[in-house]
Amino acid sequence: MVVDDSLENVRVLHQVLKNEHDVVFALNGEKALEIARTQVPELVLLDAVMPGMDGFAVCAELKTLVETKDIPVIFVTALNGFADEARALNGGAVDFITKPINGVVVQARVRTHLTLKRQSDFLREMTLIDGLSGIPNRRCFDERLEREWQRCERAGLSMALIMADIDHFKSFNDYYGHLEGDACLKTVAATLADCVRHPPDFVARFGGEEFACVLPHESLDGAKVVAQRMLDRVRALAIPHTQSTSAPCVTVSLGGATIMPTRILRPASLVTAADANLYQAKKAGRNRYFTEISPGVNLASVQ
Ligand code: GH3
Ligand code: MG
Ligand code: MG
Repeated sequence: MVVDDSLENVRVLHQVLKNEHDVVFALNGEKALEIARTQVPELVLLDAVMPGMDGFAVCAELKTLVETKDIPVIFVTALNGFADEARALNGGAVDFITKPINGVVVQARVRTHLTLKRQSDFLREMTLIDGLSGIPNRRCFDERLEREWQRCERAGLSMALIMADIDHFKSFNDYYGHLEGDACLKTVAATLADCVRHPPDFVARFGGEEFACVLPHESLDGAKVVAQRMLDRVRALAIPHTQSTSAPCVTVSLGGATIMPTRILRPASLVTAADANLYQAKKAGRNRYFTEISPGVNLASVQ
């Protein structure tokens, strides 16, 4: 995205960049922020001096918002003192180019910063993906659960969680071997993930052969529908498991719970309740879901 109050400058930069990149532009700071939030460009070329909101203010705002804080900002400006350059760089800009620009230099710098941006995006994603199954990992689960919790709390909406655990998986590994076990985990992970259709719903690997499904805005009835779908879909895989005493094939047990998020309650209370329900499903014979225990209930009294 090119941000400059002069149409002529926008034209020049467009000319320089159009062969290698898709270029969008904004003629003032407010419009730039709107586009940054909605279209999330990969890089921003930002004029410093503009009427209304200037480039420094735009950069400061971009660096504050979660959705835009990782977009690299390059100042392209007629200002050429070290003080301005230092202000831009200290404000979070990755580079500072002075006008009049040289097309080849701008192209090279843009290319470099886009490469760095794509590399850091890739690395950030890798820290949030489980290496074996390819679905969100525990770290991602913790972060997203907290984020969704806050969103539901603000919106006054409930939130549901389903914990799933593969039945008799230790004996699956013992009998079929760990590589078959890994393959089974991958298939089950993909199948569970496929049981939720739209963000913000998601399924993560909670650890080992346990998975967690977060359903923001969902009631207990909604969670039951998803839990039933998960049961059915995993059974339908029909992965043979002759050692299981619950079924001739690989199955899961599930515990679901729902809660109205508040500032006092923590997401952990939802996890604890779903986990207690999962334990009940296991105890009742596995290959089923259970949802009776609510968050906040004294668990000692339910056993
Ligand atoms: P239950 O029906 O009560 O859930 O019994 P279970 O055997 O599934 O549960 P347990 O917790 O005793 O064993 C879990 C097993 O999951 C043991 C461990 O070797 C296996 N496991 C955990 N992570 C992995 C993995 O990444 N790959 C493989 N192959 N196995 C794993
Ligand atoms: Mg387990
Ligand atoms: Mg298990």
